[in-house]
Amino acid sequence: MKTENTDVVVVGFGNAAQAAAVAAHQAGAKVLVLEKAPEKKKGGNTWFSHGAQFRHVHNGIEDEKPLLPHVSESEWAKIDLPPYTKDDFYSDIMRVTRGRSVPELAELLVNESYPTVRWMREMGIEWEILYSAAKPEGGRLRWHHGSSFINSKDGGGGLVEMWHRILRNKGIPARFETAASRILTNESGRVYGLVVETPEGFSEIHCKGLVLGCGGFSANPALRAQFLGAGWDLAKVRGTKYNTGDGIQMALDIGAQPFGHWSGSHATPIDADAGDYEGGFLDPANRRYRTHRYAWTIGVMVNSEGRRFIDEGEDFHSYTYAKTGAEILKQPGGIAYQIFDEKLKEAVSRYLYDGATPVVANSIKELAEMLEINPSALHKTVDEFNNAVVEDRPFDEVIRDGRHTEGIYPPKTNWAQKLDTPPFTAYAATCGLTFTYGGLKINTDCQVLNRSDRPIPGLYAAGELTAGFFYYNYPSGSGLLRGAVTGKIAGTNAAR
Ligand SMILES: Cc1cc2nc3c(=O)[nH]c(=O)nc-3n(C[C@H](O)[C@H](O)[C@H](O)COP(=O)(O)OP(=O)(O)OC[C@H]3O[C@@H](n4cnc5c(N)ncnc54)[C@H](O)[C@@H]3O)c2cc1C
Repeated sequence: MKTENTDVVVVGFGNAAQAAAVAAHQAGAKVLVLEKAPEKKKGGNTWFSHGAQFRHVHNGIEDEKPLLPHVSESEWAKIDLPPYTKDDFYSDIMRVTRGRSVPELAELLVNESYPTVRWMREMGIEWEILYSAAKPEGGRLRWHHGSSFINSKDGGGGLVEMWHRILRNKGIPARFETAASRILTNESGRVYGLVVETPEGFSEIHCKGLVLGCGGFSANPALRAQFLGAGWDLAKVRGTKYNTGDGIQMALDIGAQPFGHWSGSHATPIDADAGDYEGGFLDPANRRYRTHRYAWTIGVMVNSEGRRFIDEGEDFHSYTYAKTGAEILKQPGGIAYQIFDEKLKEAVSRYLYDGATPVVANSIKELAEMLEINPSALHKTVDEFNNAVVEDRPFDEVIRDGRHTEGIYPPKTNWAQKLDTPPFTAYAATCGLTFTYGGLKINTDCQVLNRSDRPIPGLYAAGELTAGFFYYNYPSGSGLLRGAVTGKIAGTNAAR
């Protein structure tokens, strides 16, 4: 079999792998990047991250200025940005993961968040202000507490292109249509390379350090049904069709430890018309019409039987969206309808429902008929909801306003407003799987651990296939950050 040699091989071409490749090069290694997809489909789930927001710790505007050198002082003067401290980030992770996130890994993410976004800027990644998370008020901009403040320029597609340009400028080669298929170990269990598959056949690449950055198993229906459960094999996938769990499987084959929340995943409400794969956009080829449907927190969400099924106002969508897709999948037909009245029209417009086909009606009865929901069932739900709204304080979507319902189940804890002002608008949503939580156990040096909890010499992991960070749920903007943090550490250590 044809064999070649290098210092570090990085598998994958998303944000985690690209960060690892740049870090390994910076540490002095000769690096080779391998990607299963053809070049025109490069970038994995990273490419599909339309917002591409990066959550990170900061002390307010002064910390953000070095990340955004193009922003003028007059623009900064309009922005109200409360600090987001290490304690805030750590407690957000622990709260949404029900205390299951591994403390050392959560701390790693929190502590390395700001240094990593600064490092990315130094490497050439350009940032933008995430204006869609702000609400304009009296000429100023207020950020929802706990929402991310920055995204990479031109979203996930822009991030992949910027990393690719940086790799090219540093002379780091990337080979497409080259899938890692088997890891090679010697008698002492040290990783010394891998077998790759290309359209021409199989060959070996030997290396001193191997970084797996090749995603989870979101695009593998067999593994979805096996680990996430019945019905998940048919769920729509928001991202790439190439994340089929190869890296996880290859590492398990040489004794790596399976770890984390194997039956859990990040899955969100998306447009019911999204495709089975690449469902993050209605028109993925042209990166048009994002499918996320995250305004349900300010409206009412019912299933096809006209029943509400969750507390829509439990928390900001940044803290609930990743678990809400699974709740929709459990409903009949895996469908939900998000309903808003005229009072919410301007607010919904800020959630960027571009390309959606809403159903609009002048009465709840007419709306129900158009949605093919039993009209009396929907009427009953809306009447009960309206009667339960406690109107003791103003509606304010930027804070947890505590405007709630009383005497109904499920309750609505925040942002409860009567649905009483026609026309009524409904958007059909379904479950969109973003990525899976189960994968490989790593230590804080991003070494992959074996089933005796010892590092497998020469093997590192970064990004989606690293487990232990997220369980049940996830704070928005943490996936790309996890990829960059673990990629930078894995790449640096693989080069040593
Ligand atoms: C629609 C959408 C929106 C999102 N928005 C955000 C957001 O705003 N903020 C945020 O933090 N996160 C977001 N995420 C999540 C985020 O995109 C992922 O967590 C992150 O990009 C994962 O990065 P990664 O590098 O680990 O994996 P990926 O970017 O998926 O890269 C993995 C790569 O490995 C390749 N690969 C797979 N198998 C092999 C193999 N055998 N050999 C070689 N290569 C292989 C794949 O082709 C792929 O290119 C979003 C995801 C989606 C789908």
